[in-house]
Amino acid sequence: MTPWWEATREGRLLLQRCEGCGHLQHYPRALCTGCGGTDLGWQESAGRGAVDSFTVVHRSPSPEHAPPYVVARVRLDEGPILLTNLVGDADWHCDQRVRLAWRTLDDGRRLPVFEQE
Ligand SMILES: [Zn+2]
Repeated sequence: MTPWWEATREGRLLLQRCEGCGHLQHYPRALCTGCGGTDLGWQESAGRGAVDSFTVVHRSPSPEHAPPYVVARVRLDEGPILLTNLVGDADWHCDQRVRLAWRTLDDGRRLPVFEQE
């Protein structure tokens, strides 16, 4: 996971790419979920996608997550799906176009979140 997290410091969202069959996947794994191959590299996502599904959380499980917030599955245009947050004021709906934004963590790494396109 280290290359993936380091790239977030530069605002780059990496997808894992199988050099054997070209399959793209997220999150990073030891094996390609397409062919089982282990020759895996990286490709940068363009950061565009669509809301696959989402839910608005009104009761937070922990103090650092202030409700309400939106948890969503976003399907990137490249294919892989991310479990993420939707940010900003919007009347969210499925298939809504979104673009990558970032939430900076205390140590300088960033979490990919998405906003209305
Ligand atoms: Zn593969």
